[in-house]
Amino acid sequence: MARRRQIYEGKAKVLFEGPEPGTLVQYFKDDATAFNNKKRGTITGKGVLNNRISEYLMLKLGEIGVPTHFVRRLNMREQLVREVEIIPLEVVMRNVAAGSLAQRFGLSEGTPLPRSIVEYYFKSDALNDPMVSEEHITAFGWATTQDLDEIMSLSLRINDFLSGLFLGIGIRLVDFKIEFGRLYNNEDMQIVLADEISPDSCRLWDLKTNEKMDKDRFRRDLGGVEEAYQEVARRLGILPEGGPRDLKGPATMQ
Ligand code: UDP
Repeated sequence: MARRRQIYEGKAKVLFEGPEPGTLVQYFKDDATAFNNKKRGTITGKGVLNNRISEYLMLKLGEIGVPTHFVRRLNMREQLVREVEIIPLEVVMRNVAAGSLAQRFGLSEGTPLPRSIVEYYFKSDALNDPMVSEEHITAFGWATTQDLDEIMSLSLRINDFLSGLFLGIGIRLVDFKIEFGRLYNNEDMQIVLADEISPDSCRLWDLKTNEKMDKDRFRRDLGGVEEAYQEVARRLGILPEGGPRDLKGPATMQ
């Protein structure tokens, strides 16, 4: 197959030109970074698992009517997605205090929040993704008030749905980060869920033991990182057929 033109390389994914106009191929790497690139490493098989986990969650969300960029999985590490204009925000939904929120407000990790809280961060590595308010977002023109209404209502639906889905497999959805994009169709513009949803971008805790099953195992050097990602996939019922040994995926990128 002809080599595809690379559009963008991020920390955990590469985007290539898709087979048809308006599509992209999203390739999932095993590379892991934390603390704005200060900590780097590899989580063997992560790309294969995140490709599957994100596919599964986006398809399920599609089934309840949440529009997403996902089209179909192509192979172990790649999925076909619609090309969207990414809104430069990280939307974080939180159900339980953890990470930066626990630090900011002096809460111990694991404290349930009075209600789900949404936060916005401006996507900028150079600025270390600063937290921003609706005022900043609309004043600087990153999104309109109407866009934000849509983003908020989609995020709440996504949170409720995923919280229930994970609860069903004995996992607490503590918090997660999502991104949205604008999909243009002639005159129409639709806001759709983009990027990925995976243990890289969620905090997932075992319901019984509170054991972490997400990237915090890498961030905090807790060990058992590969196993945690595998366990999430196993509980979702989507561990690749050959089992953990099948996770390296093709050595060459298309
Ligand atoms: N998150 C992410 N990418 C980022 C920052 C955060 O996917 O660049 C996710 C993170 O995995 C967690 C949630 O967003 O599920 C909230 O993260 P937090 O603000 O607590 O920051 P952290 O403690 O991860 O630095």
